[in-house]
Amino acid sequence: MRKKIIAGNWKMNQTPMQAKQLCDMLCPQLEHAAADVVFCVPFTDLQTVLDAVQGTDIAVGAQNMHFADQGAYTGEISAPMLKEMGVSYVVLGHSERREYFAETDSAINQKVKQALAYGLTPIVCCGETLEQREANITIEWVRMQLKLDLAGLSEQQAKGVVIAYEPIWAIGTGKTATKEQAQEVCAAIRTVLGEMFGKETAEQIRIQYGGSVNAKNAAELFAMPDIDGGLVGGASLKEEFAQIVRS
Ligand code: PEP
Repeated sequence: MRKKIIAGNWKMNQTPMQAKQLCDMLCPQLEHAAADVVFCVPFTDLQTVLDAVQGTDIAVGAQNMHFADQGAYTGEISAPMLKEMGVSYVVLGHSERREYFAETDSAINQKVKQALAYGLTPIVCCGETLEQREANITIEWVRMQLKLDLAGLSEQQAKGVVIAYEPIWAIGTGKTATKEQAQEVCAAIRTVLGEMFGKETAEQIRIQYGGSVNAKNAAELFAMPDIDGGLVGGASLKEEFAQIVRS
């Protein structure tokens, strides 16, 4: 039985002071959550949020990292830096990073391996554009992303990955995939994972849905057999996030 995992992607929001206020509001409401809960926050909020969640079961994640241990990569943050702070998750390959920062599948693959090497759980994002959905190539596209992003992982390593299926047309648009659309792709993702790592491993990997998840639609999405929780953007900055976790 896979435990649900709900992660909030704060994106480029919240100064450290605002982050503290948000944690003060959310943490008491997230006590005894039945799901794993993760706050994926800007680098500058990591320490504040790590301090704020101390003594709770809430984990903290970053939203990106570099694939090298260290070196001349101005402006970048490494896996050992995150690990030493106490960060346990990292979002990799979010569509905003792919689109605005030209992040490639090959770079994402290196980052996934690096995260795993340092004991960080990567939340690996994949998903199609509206044009791809309308051209009926959603599953083919997502299959290709996963094959590239997870290439070279062992079965054991694959168990340490969380996949987030995020149709790009549903991110920040208020347009949520229907529960049937989301389930169809998440089931196809599990099939691809089975081809890559074996059925038994695929059954253990958690697959989130992301894209305008809110307090109204969360319960029906998370009740689908291959949807093991959500990656939540906009609603993770509000009290609504606690309602989503309770779903
Ligand atoms: C996201 O940032 O990954 C996301 C799904 O955003 P939103 O929930 O706002 O659509």
